[in-house]
Amino acid sequence: MLPEAGSLWLLKLLRDIQLAQFYWPILEELNVTRPEHFDFVKPEDLDSIGMGRPAQRRLSEALKRLRSGPKSKNWVYKILGGLAPEHKEPTLPSQGPPHVPEPEGGLKCLIPEGAVCRRELLGSGCFGVVHRGLWTLPSGKSVPVAVKSLRVGPEGPVGAELGDFLREVSVMMNLEHPHVLRLHGLILGQPLQMVMELAPLGSLHARLTAPAPTPPLPVALLFLFLRQLAGAMAYLGARGLVHRDLATRNLLLASTSTIKVADFGLVRPLSGARGRYVMGGPRPIPYAWCAPESLRHGAFSSASDVWMFGVTLWEMFSGGEEPWAGVPPYLILQRLEDRARLPRPPLCSRTLYSLALRCWAPHPADRPSFTHVEGLLQEAWPTEGCCVRDVTEPGALRMEPGDPITVIEGSPDSTIWKGQNGRTFKVGSFPASAVTLADAGGLPATRPVHRGTPARGDQHPGSIDGDRKKANLWDVPPARGQRRNVPLERMKGGTECAWSHPPGVPGSTGSHQGRCGFSHPEPQGKASPGQVWWLMSVIPALWEA
Ligand code: ATP
Repeated sequence: MLPEAGSLWLLKLLRDIQLAQFYWPILEELNVTRPEHFDFVKPEDLDSIGMGRPAQRRLSEALKRLRSGPKSKNWVYKILGGLAPEHKEPTLPSQGPPHVPEPEGGLKCLIPEGAVCRRELLGSGCFGVVHRGLWTLPSGKSVPVAVKSLRVGPEGPVGAELGDFLREVSVMMNLEHPHVLRLHGLILGQPLQMVMELAPLGSLHARLTAPAPTPPLPVALLFLFLRQLAGAMAYLGARGLVHRDLATRNLLLASTSTIKVADFGLVRPLSGARGRYVMGGPRPIPYAWCAPESLRHGAFSSASDVWMFGVTLWEMFSGGEEPWAGVPPYLILQRLEDRARLPRPPLCSRTLYSLALRCWAPHPADRPSFTHVEGLLQEAWPTEGCCVRDVTEPGALRMEPGDPITVIEGSPDSTIWKGQNGRTFKVGSFPASAVTLADAGGLPATRPVHRGTPARGDQHPGSIDGDRKKANLWDVPPARGQRRNVPLERMKGGTECAWSHPPGVPGSTGSHQGRCGFSHPEPQGKASPGQVWWLMSVIPALWEA
């Protein structure tokens, strides 16, 4: 076969360094047709076509020489090339192999335009629109994907949006984690398109706020999501990255029991001795999710991501409510500095709420790391039980024998507990004697109880009393390595008002008051972008870039 005219430069380059035998593999398997395409080729890609490391070094030197020519001024290359690290980060050994198999087809980062067929619109964001798509690999196999296209104005892509889009690409292409949305590649067309793993069930926020008859999410599943999120955030932090936009709207559901952190447009590398990123100018930021130091000084760090994790936790246990709804943005910082905090949602146990409060410590150094958060989540994990008799008492959570029950609050010396019925998804108080705990060997709950701690890993759907049909929404890992003899936290009284404040924390959110009781909150409407995003310049006096 004759070399294609458009790729003669490649043949010449390879001949010059005695690597002409790699011409076809580079062209066909790695889809490199222009010099700047090499920006997306990683050593692993070259390994996969049999090129040894010394030959790779020769190629890299030759490319450097080539790039000193006029082509290197290409705007994509200029922005992306400068941002993309040379080597793909390996997955941490403790986190195991990624769940998503490597798609066949060689190059992971450059995808020919014709290989992806765009389908219906999934949504739109700041940079552009996201469509469902089908990516046809060279083998003919099709992979469902999401395609994010950069919004292009009449003058072409410009400024911050383009920078954020390309930054998102360059960050994502180096990430590999089971709970981080995977980037398959980039289409260098008009418009620029990011080809990503499809999260078929959409955003967690949309799921949390889905109207009836969609049932609310089980508390145990919310815990699982929190653990997945903490793991993904620990992974990002270990790579020296700060996400800056952690919220349920940016958590996508890859399956009913798997979330993926998405939306890396605001991700920045941490730098300096203090491991911070300080904003260099007024940009919209998600005000109600931000830590006080972010609002006051434009400073972001892993600790400010931990703060956002606390707000995301709050959203999850509030049925997707908007944090600080009704509070004007310029007052949020004042509230936070006065030590007001989001109140405890009814589904949230006291132990979990105390974790959220630790994430909201005023000083970044006092907040737990994400690794520590993972441990604290284990401590707060709710106990699973099974109903042993009909509960029909007025005001009590209705249950029937065999119903799986998640104990939200309960202690061995209390006769009334609070929990969620896994069959009806209702939350309420019930007599402790009506439930046996999954890890108490079938003993009635009035005997000393133990809190199960979940195992790491998310593969295994838990079952209660062996009833796997009922357990499909309860995708909680088995209680491998459960801790025993840890009494549940004492519950104060049988009923309580939904919104409470931490000790010594004055203030309230106002708009949330009056919602009492144990039942799951009514789903709320999705917070509009106008409510979520506020320019830092709204309060310029508070923040110097
Ligand atoms: P931003 O404006 O900061 O980019 P966003 O999340 O609103 O935030 P996009 O990331 O562009 O914007 O996503 C737009 C919509 O498309 C979101 O509602 C999201 O739920 C959906 N979406 C994005 N990526 C995927 C994906 N990989 N799979 C399924 N849906 C997705």
